[in-house]
Amino acid sequence: MAKDDKKDNTLKLKFDSARNLAPAPESKSIAKIKPQYELFINGSFVKPESGKYFDTINPATEEKLSQVAEASPADVDKAIKSAKSAYQKVWSKMPGKERAKYIFRISRMIQEKAREFAVVESLDGGKPIRESRDFDVPTAANHFFYYAGWADKLNYAFPTKTPRPVGVASQIIPWNFPLLMAAWKIAPALATGNTVVLKSAETTPLTALMLAELIQEADLPPGVVNIITGAGETGAAMVSHPDTDKIAFTGSTDVGKIIQKAVASTHKKVTLELGGKAANIIFDDAPLDQAVEGVINGIFFNQGHVCCAGSRLYVQESVYDIVLRKLKDRLETLIVGDPLDKNTDIGAINSRGQLETIQKYLKIGVQEGGEIYQSSCPLPKKGFFCSPTLFTNVSQSSRIAQEEIFGPVLSILTFRTEDEVIEKANNTPYGLSAGVWTDKGSKIFNMTTKLRAGVVWANTFNKFDPTSPFGGFKESGFGREGGLHGLMPYLHLD
Ligand code: NAP
Ligand code: MG
Repeated sequence: MAKDDKKDNTLKLKFDSARNLAPAPESKSIAKIKPQYELFINGSFVKPESGKYFDTINPATEEKLSQVAEASPADVDKAIKSAKSAYQKVWSKMPGKERAKYIFRISRMIQEKAREFAVVESLDGGKPIRESRDFDVPTAANHFFYYAGWADKLNYAFPTKTPRPVGVASQIIPWNFPLLMAAWKIAPALATGNTVVLKSAETTPLTALMLAELIQEADLPPGVVNIITGAGETGAAMVSHPDTDKIAFTGSTDVGKIIQKAVASTHKKVTLELGGKAANIIFDDAPLDQAVEGVINGIFFNQGHVCCAGSRLYVQESVYDIVLRKLKDRLETLIVGDPLDKNTDIGAINSRGQLETIQKYLKIGVQEGGEIYQSSCPLPKKGFFCSPTLFTNVSQSSRIAQEEIFGPVLSILTFRTEDEVIEKANNTPYGLSAGVWTDKGSKIFNMTTKLRAGVVWANTFNKFDPTSPFGGFKESGFGREGGLHGLMPYLHLD
């Protein structure tokens, strides 16, 4: 038997055994999903003025999970007025150390309900339970915990200033990290003395509504946090409302631009966390197995539904063949399937619309001359799923190297020198994150100063911590969330 055949057989055995693991599903019984949810306004769950509801489904089965209220502009007005009243009468006057107690309580209660949050997150959004359980939910609790610690120390955070809250924060979040994005937004706003109206994304409202129930149980004064559900028009009504003092938006660059136009020449403070097209860069002196693992994690983690996903890979020419072979081998061991199964690496695409967007880009990639390689892992018959995909023979100007796909699709390009790869990595409209894989510290320092990205990871990828600021350059937005920097957008500092 030739050496390569032998290797192929060994790999085949490895793939088959990975795919034939006995199912290890997390029980759904812990998730107490109600058939219908109302709007959380002024401390109570209230019916929408619109009288309208819309369905949220499980993208892995296409089954309806629940129906949630659609907030009209009249509901938005009610929520913002309740936030304004709570701001003026209670929250802005409460000493920081008292506010901190509530925020700590929210953190602890998320930890107590962690398992239920994780199951509901995976059911509603399609992400593997391993991620919702090990990343989303603990990181959300950590954010509340971290910002609770700042609430009574704002004068120390900004020693030469007099920090004052801004007022009512309208916060709009996307569907890729529903609970975590709610935590990123609500925790710093409360710590700095602001009140909140938060809108979740249409396809993933359930964990935000569970958070509303938890906040009610935590006895937060009514109106300090209001959580509403609805469509793009609901978000637009929040942005244009005259009593909104601060807008915190995470979502697409297109909607970010609409928001920026809408608030031009108003008093509203804005932070925008938008799209990305991150470059992961492998130099020939990098620990290659570690780098390949980081690249796989960087793009296939959460089905590629990650703004900072490493969706472009730049490999130094001398190690291109070996890196490509390792990537293809690793792709074959990934398991695509039931998000609730603990063996699953890649869960369901969040919606039919997003799956169609990804499929459109797969076609564009091929039409542009890219060579496509997809894992042979079988896909479930029902639900929205996509095979992990590699594209080689991609040019720098290809649309799949320039535009955000937001799916498990990696475009692979090559380079020869440091200067060349810096030029290529920076050559997109985005600048959210990047990754560098090398054995040399000096190369890391050179790259981190020249890559125009808000976060540059070195010999790792997709690592998050509440103490560390996150945000974009260029069309990836502005303002920072996380860390001490994350307090600033919620304060007047004069
Ligand atoms: P999206 O379409 O921009 O939606 C984001 C949120 O905005 C949703 O709640 C959406 O409501 C709402 N919305 C839609 N139109 C609006 C309008 N005219 N005014 C105000 N709000 C409006 O983005 P998405 O498709 O949900 O999320 C994916 C995008 O988010 C990607 O581009 C990704 O890169 C980005 N993202 C960025 C970060 C970051 O930190 N930089 C993090 C996560 C995601 P509906 O759900 O009802 O449409
Ligand atoms: Mg859903």
